[in-house]
Amino acid sequence: MLHNTSYIICHYAEIGIKGGNRNYFERILAKNIKEKLDKELPDSFEHIKRISGRILVKLSSSEKQIKNSLNTYYLILTTTFGIANFSFAIESKQDIKILKKDCWDLIRNKKFKTFRITAQRSQKDFPMTSEEINKEVGAYVVEKSKKKVNLTKPDVNCFIEIVDRRAFIYLEKIKGPGGMPVGSNGKALILLSGGIDSPVAAYYALKRGVKADFIHFHSMPYTTPASVEKVKNLAKILGKFQIQSKIFLVPFADIQKEIVLKTPEKLRIIIYRRLMLRIAEKLAQDNKYLALYTGESVGQVASQTLENINATEDAINLPILRPLIGFDKEDIIKKAKQIGTYEISILPHEDCCARFVPKHPEIKADLKEVQIAEKKLDIEKMIEKAVEKIKIEKG
Ligand code: ATP
Ligand code: MG
Repeated sequence: MLHNTSYIICHYAEIGIKGGNRNYFERILAKNIKEKLDKELPDSFEHIKRISGRILVKLSSSEKQIKNSLNTYYLILTTTFGIANFSFAIESKQDIKILKKDCWDLIRNKKFKTFRITAQRSQKDFPMTSEEINKEVGAYVVEKSKKKVNLTKPDVNCFIEIVDRRAFIYLEKIKGPGGMPVGSNGKALILLSGGIDSPVAAYYALKRGVKADFIHFHSMPYTTPASVEKVKNLAKILGKFQIQSKIFLVPFADIQKEIVLKTPEKLRIIIYRRLMLRIAEKLAQDNKYLALYTGESVGQVASQTLENINATEDAINLPILRPLIGFDKEDIIKKAKQIGTYEISILPHEDCCARFVPKHPEIKADLKEVQIAEKKLDIEKMIEKAVEKIKIEKG
């Protein structure tokens, strides 16, 4: 008899997370799945358990409720980093007679000409090998259905998992997003501009398990609130991949005015950037962020030369990570479309730097020259004043 209870079995890629790390990784992954389900489908599950390389979600909803919420489950699990694949499964028993019947019950109403059985035995004291299970269950299905086995391209693939004194069966492995569970690799501050690149950089931070909060510099009231609105919407979209985030909104116009007044025109952009980085570093120190992320890619625009990267990076000590450094614009756009940030990023907004932009910005900044030009500024005070005026929003 087939048990009615349904489960979701989440698998993760185990490479690199053996030993002591595994427990830590699993705990965070289970917590992230739980938090997302609690938020989007409260009361839909009884418990979430970690069993031998898998996260098992026991669903408490009826078959019909599960069907109705299928899209939401998909959306949640395909955006939870750390999941390599997941399956909607039914519990059977570690008894070959029952397994045969349950597998047949699961596929008998499907339309298929060929099938295969794919058993995986994680509990090694089960008396049959995976191969033996495949053969015996397969023979039973052939007898009942008169259909053929096809190991390479079957119409139906019936998976059996022997694990933790239990047995599960399912017909589909759905691809997860891979990566590592958000929060398993510390937290970082993403410099989010409202453009196409930085949200994609944020995605790659999250994918490697880094919890992301955001910092945005705006020139209001000289610019419209458009960039701020965009950043809030972008953080919301990126919120698919994490539970909650903070957005630090930094008023930048006063700093820009002072730079315009006191430093050579061609160095302005570099000096704006150095101030941005210093403010971000100050926030990072106060809030325990371990790195900054930007959407820069070498040579993408005239300002992103190695010389300029060198001249901006020198301003701070905190690591600046640039996941898009080797990406072509085309690839960044493709990814932005895939994660859903592109449509917002292309809405018009006035970049804070465009507001006070020089006619001929320096393309190959000389670090010494920049450092000398900055001597005219009371940098400590500029940072302090900006930090005082920061507004924090929930992302
Ligand atoms: P993006 O598409 O991310 O805006 P971009 O190609 O326009 O990037 P730049 O304007 O040179 O490139 O900015 C480089 C990086 O600096 C951005 O990816 C972002 O991380 C950061 N940045 C630029 N402007 C701002 C801003 N106003 N607030 C926060 N970060 C910013
Ligand atoms: Mg930009």
